[in-house]
Amino acid sequence: MAAVLESSSAISANTATVKLLINGKLIESKTKVWKDVVNPATQEVLARVPFATADEIDLAISTAADAFKTWKKTPIGARARVMLKLQELIRRDMKKLAACLTAEQGKTLPDAEGDVFRGLEVVEHACSIGTLTLGEIAENVAGGIDTYFIRQPIGVCAGITPFNFPAMIPLWMFPMAIVTGNTFVLKPSEQDPMTTMLLAELAMEAGVPAGVLNVIHGGKEVVDALCTHPTIQAVSFVGSCHVGEHVYKLASNHGKRAQCMMGAKNHAVVMPDANKNQSLNALVGAGFGAAGQRCMATSVVVLVGEANKWIPDIVAKAKTLKVNAGIVAGTDVGPVISKAAKTRIESFIAQGVTEGAKLELDGRNPVVAGYEKGNFIAPTIFSDVKPGMRIYDEEIFGPVLVIVNVDTLDDAIALVNANPYGNGTGIFTQSGAVARKFQNEIDVGQVGINVPVPVPVPYFSFTGSRGSKLGDLGPYGKQVIQFYTQTKTVTERWFDDSSVEGGKNAGVNMTISLK
Ligand code: NAD
Repeated sequence: MAAVLESSSAISANTATVKLLINGKLIESKTKVWKDVVNPATQEVLARVPFATADEIDLAISTAADAFKTWKKTPIGARARVMLKLQELIRRDMKKLAACLTAEQGKTLPDAEGDVFRGLEVVEHACSIGTLTLGEIAENVAGGIDTYFIRQPIGVCAGITPFNFPAMIPLWMFPMAIVTGNTFVLKPSEQDPMTTMLLAELAMEAGVPAGVLNVIHGGKEVVDALCTHPTIQAVSFVGSCHVGEHVYKLASNHGKRAQCMMGAKNHAVVMPDANKNQSLNALVGAGFGAAGQRCMATSVVVLVGEANKWIPDIVAKAKTLKVNAGIVAGTDVGPVISKAAKTRIESFIAQGVTEGAKLELDGRNPVVAGYEKGNFIAPTIFSDVKPGMRIYDEEIFGPVLVIVNVDTLDDAIALVNANPYGNGTGIFTQSGAVARKFQNEIDVGQVGINVPVPVPVPYFSFTGSRGSKLGDLGPYGKQVIQFYTQTKTVTERWFDDSSVEGGKNAGVNMTISLK
């Protein structure tokens, strides 16, 4: 194991390439296609990531299939103990993981620790697998007959993750998949795969047997291979809508279970009676934290009635945020992931102006001393925004907040429900009756009441809905136990040799045979 860890993909001047993890070993890809992993604050090339070859993809999947034969029979307690060890190792390496994450993804160091921590909570929950996978039994469903169901692992599962949470989202996937007895092939984002690799190495160190967790890198070709390979039983995807829709269709058409968590436009509804200071802090934090690159970021503020007067306060609060490299202490808003993302977000801002929205705060081209090459966009705010404008209709995925005014709570609810996305929403109010009406009538899968980013803890499941999700079951929590297991229902009867009942006639009628 020491040799494996020495050749890891941690940040180091000597480490030029990100490895594949196949059959418990970190191996150098033989591919000719490589992509630079770039620090978004400096443009420094941290490593090169391979796009795995067809042979390497096949090897990872066949290795996982071999490992499944024994892993599925490994006692639950043994699987749980691997997770107990993994959570300990993640805590041990928290600073190292966060430093790697900030370097390759750009978010601030405290936010990077939050990214790791929210994934760590899933690993902690995976330690309870014993009670999470219990079946059920009913005695005497007919004379002398009992029926029970058990949950069994389904085989080799695959995970495809986005760039914005390179620790949390891989940890949504592989710990729950493998603790339920499956084996796994993970394909991290090619934009920031290094933190995910550190986590995979920790999984090896924690005792995940060779072949149970495999990691391959790449883009569309690798994803398509995972979605179509006959051995893969289930595909978990987190990323944008257009890719998620493609993945869901491809995987489903090839007979696999699929769950796709996708893009969002999250509305925060602000009532005039809301606690002003708390709400402003929450709106600005949820809008601009992680440079707006959270799927649960607040991207639309809906000001109801007199709350309309708060626009100058929102702008003033946003101006207090410090834009700088994530590694610099006190930074609130780091760079966006890539030059392409920066250009895309700037084009949204330009179009918002063209379409007639009022640019209250223009964050384009901020000067960040010492990090002049970084992909920075400072907090940007539009008011007078309306459905039909591109900045309202589409996910921007950057530090851009759009403000819509409505007259009443009913108008706000109608606006949110007419939007195709359903990942998250929130209401800020002091009124329990208003909050209750909102949570009852709003058609969005995750609701915050005076809570800006309502991502559920892992005892629950992530339950985005409508255009933000494809598939019935969400990641982590009880839903993912269902996703990663097959229910088998057994009806059993035992004959008592000393009994004289039954056995005289062959039973050909369903009800009689169950008597
Ligand atoms: P993305 O869709 O570009 O990439 C996600 C994954 O798909 C990556 O591993 C990537 O390599 C792969 N991929 C990219 N293009 C592909 C293609 N044409 N065919 C097959 N695979 C392809 O997403 P991203 O930019 O990395 O992440 C940001 C997006 O993820 C945002 O839309 C955000 O809202 C969403 N997201 C959603 C959730 C959620 O839980 N709903 C969580 C995090 C991020």
